[in-house]
Formats: sequence, C-alpha cells, structure tokens
Amino acid sequence: MNDELLNPGQKGRVVLVSAGPGDPGLITAAGLEYLASADVVVYDALSSPKLLAHVQLDAELIYVGKRGGNHAKTQDEINDILVQKAKSGKLVIRLKGGDAYLFGRGAEELAYLAKHGVDAIALPGVTAGVAAPMMAGIPVTHRKIASTVTLVTGHEDPTKDETAVDYQSLAGLIAKGGTVCFYMGVGRLSLICDVLQSHGLAADTPAALVQWGTTPQQRHIVTNLGKAVTDVEKAGISSPAIILVGQVAAISEPGLDFFTRRPLFGQTILITRTRQQASAFGSQLGYLGADVIEAPTIDIVPPDDWADVDAVIKDVKNYDWLILTSRNGVTAMRDRMAEMKLDARHLAGVKIAAIGSATAESLEDELKIIPDLVPTKFVAESLAAELIAKHDVAGKKMLLLRADIARPALPELLAEAGAQITEHVIYQTKLADGLTDETLLALREKRVDWVTFTSSSTARNMVDLLGSEKDLLKDCKLASIGPITSKTMTDLGLPIDVEASQSDIPGLVAALVDVVKPK
Ligand code: SAH
Repeated sequence: MNDELLNPGQKGRVVLVSAGPGDPGLITAAGLEYLASADVVVYDALSSPKLLAHVQLDAELIYVGKRGGNHAKTQDEINDILVQKAKSGKLVIRLKGGDAYLFGRGAEELAYLAKHGVDAIALPGVTAGVAAPMMAGIPVTHRKIASTVTLVTGHEDPTKDETAVDYQSLAGLIAKGGTVCFYMGVGRLSLICDVLQSHGLAADTPAALVQWGTTPQQRHIVTNLGKAVTDVEKAGISSPAIILVGQVAAISEPGLDFFTRRPLFGQTILITRTRQQASAFGSQLGYLGADVIEAPTIDIVPPDDWADVDAVIKDVKNYDWLILTSRNGVTAMRDRMAEMKLDARHLAGVKIAAIGSATAESLEDELKIIPDLVPTKFVAESLAAELIAKHDVAGKKMLLLRADIARPALPELLAEAGAQITEHVIYQTKLADGLTDETLLALREKRVDWVTFTSSSTARNMVDLLGSEKDLLKDCKLASIGPITSKTMTDLGLPIDVEASQSDIPGLVAALVDVVKPK
C-alpha cells in the first residue's frame, strides 16, 4: 500500500496493527500491507516474531515487551516512542497481539496520540479468545448449545469486592449454555473456578484451556470446573492461555480437530540447508503442522571470479549437453544470463540434463526450460548411467556447471564412457558463520524432535558448527534425504532414524510423515 497515495501530504503517523493470536498468517491483509511499508515497528511479546520478516530491511524495530531478562517499557515510555517517531516523519506501525483494542490498551494509545497531535488509525484483528478455541476444536458459539460468548479479563481478583467482573452474571450465562473466555487468567484459575461454583455452577461444568493457540506449540486440555486446577498442573499448561468455560468445551466432533490432527503437529523440526533453500521445505513442514526452526549450516556464495563461467555460458552452443545438478546452479546460471542480457533462446539446441526433480522444476520456473533428461533416482550415478544408456555420449561435449564441493562421480563416469567433460564451479558453498541462538537454545533445551539433513555438507557442517556440543544431536532423531547423505552421516557417527526413499524434499517430507504418524 502506498501510504503517501492514501494520505497525501501526511508525514509521520501511527498505524495500530492487530497482529493476530500467534500464527503469522492470521494478521489481516491490510495489516500486512502496512507492516511491509513501515519505517518503524514497535512491537511487544505476544506479536508473532515471524511477522517481522515482512518489514523492510532498513526499518527500525523497537521491542517494548517483557521477555527473558528484559524489562517491559512502561506505557508512558511506549507512548513517548510513538509520538517521537511519528513526529520525526516516520510511518510507525504499532504491532499488538490478537486484536489491538481487546485487553490491549490500543484505544488508550490512539487517544494519547490524537491528544499529542499525531495522526493515527487502528486496524482490527483476530482475537485469541475465539481463535485459540477454534484451533483446539471448540466453536465458541453453537446454534444448539451456546448463544452467547463473553470475553472477560481473568486478571482481576474475583474475590475482591470492587472487581469489575460480575461473576454472578457470568455464572448465569454459563448455566444457560453460554461460553465465557477468560484472558490472562491462568494465574487465577483456582479462584475463577471456585467463584463460579460459589455462584451455583456444578463442578462438572465443562472447561478447557488452550495455551499458545494457533501456533505449532499449541496445547490444550478439556476439563471441568471441579478438576481444572489439578488437570492444568498435570499437563503443565501455563500462560499465555485462554480459559474457556461452558458447554461448548465438551464438544468433540470429528473434523473440528483438524489443527492438531495434521501429521507433523507437535514435532519440532530443524532444517539445516541454506536460508535461500529453507523456505520451501520449511513451509511444507509448517503446513503439515511442524514447528520449524531454520538452522542454516551452509552459505551459498558466488565463485571467486565469473569470467570463466560467463565465457562458457556465452559459448554454450559449442556443447551437446548442459548438465545442472542443483537449484542453486540454475539460479546462478539464470542470473549470469540476465547479466549478459541473454534469455532462454540462447540455450536453444543444447540438450539439458537435471539431476533431480527440484533442479528440473527450477529450470521450468526460472528459465521456462523443460530438461531433456531427469534420472529416475536423483543421484549422480543414476544421471550418468541414464545419460550413457539413453544417449550416445561417446565423443559428445558436455558442460557441467556445479557446486565447488560436488563429488567427482558424475564427470568420471561420463568421461569413462567417452564424453568430453568441461566442468565449472557456478556457486560455492561455505560453512555458515554459526548456528542461530534460536537453534542452540532449542537443542540445549531438548525441544528438537528431528534434525533433517538434505546433503552431506549439511551433516558435516552441523557437526562442525556444534563443535564440543555435538552430542546434543543424540537427543534428536535424525532424518536423511538419501543414501549419499546417510553414508556421510554414518562416517560422522550420526545414527539415521529415517532415510527418504526418494532423494528429494518431497521424499523427505513424505518419509517424516510416515515415521511420525501413529501406526
Ligand atoms: N489483545 C489480545 C489479548 C491480550 S491479553 C487478543 O485479542 O488476543 C493477553 C492474553 O491473551 C494472554 O494472557 C492469554 O490469555 C491470551 N492469549 C494471547 N495469545 C494467546 C494464544 N496464542 N493462545 C492462548 N491465549 C492467548
């Protein structure tokens, strides 16, 4: 959204954006557009950190919440930051969890801004009290059961006379089948349950708690007023959670549990490939319910010098075959061709082989080229064997554009069969600088269920990057993309818990789904 177009002449302003309850997909379309054009983002603990990936690289991020050792900024300090940044001509996005007005002091911030002459607007959002129950299989209203839903703060002491919450009325609504969603109530769960019972509700009145709703860490229990405290202790459920009281909590209809039934729900999976490659793999795993942690072990960097590669690409018509062995190779070739103002027509007449489906796909996506050969098994030996078996390679000129660390099998086998091989490194792989804090913390806290290795170098680099902490991998299960990676893992002393039968990303995803799902 072009803020300047929508608000001609407007300089600094604040947009209060409701971030939704946790899943970054639950921000509104308008909120996301504003976030993407922010100069400054002021955010707190419950707004999904993944949303920050959408802000411009040069945007200023100001964290004002309470987390780890950090002290939360006071409301006055937050107000000051908003006014100052807006008055300096910035588009300031104030990101707040759930719906910004609902138990979020959003309206106070907006009023303060107006009083100080700052133009400000707010956008509504998806609130946790409704969204978290949905993802736990509970509709907050129901045509036959619940005609009211009441959103209540559980923060106030229900036994104090001056409490603004009318528990007697709440008990009356619940008795008629109505639903009550308590926010910020886990610390007072015992009091809430007692007070509701003292107003006449039975101990077996259904209740549910949903922690971290809509996120991969979501957990919930279904209980009742009489045993909620014991059940919550047993399950170890803590804040942030919604306490839901009412008949709907006992609904358990097939189909409503879609969120937790996803095949990888509850699994924390580490992905070790480069950041550029991680997203497609990560989003497939995420779609299936996994909590994905990106732990890139490899950086892709250009060759030291492009001159040789540019020269062979320019003269590609001198070759009978062009062989590409990864997505990175295709991307690098496309970029070099673009640099030299060449398009796909430049490759006309040259036969093209891709080592596997991902390389073939990116040839199609990026260059609109359908390769002449993709082997049935996605390893160098199969590519060589099928080229030799199906095409007369003797005396043929073949150009192989590959990574610096490729195994020599492919050129050796082709050369033995009489092909003339020209090899060039089109990208280099380097050991990543280090593992992210998020990765190390998750491993140290033993929260990682699976570590996935998508090439030999991801396994080698992971072991290198962990150094003396290598044994942390012993607490995880390890997944391998195929036999070559498995061999390297075995050499490194890493056990293989599952190996993909098809050596590509969809194959690895399928293998994980297969081992994880209850038999
Ligand atoms: N404005 C927010 C609520 C802020 S109050 C909204 O509209 O959702 C903070 C409380 O919201 C927490 O104590 C918890 O009760 C609830 N909450 C926020 N995110 C949650 C989540 N993902 N799952 C369960 N409860 C959540």
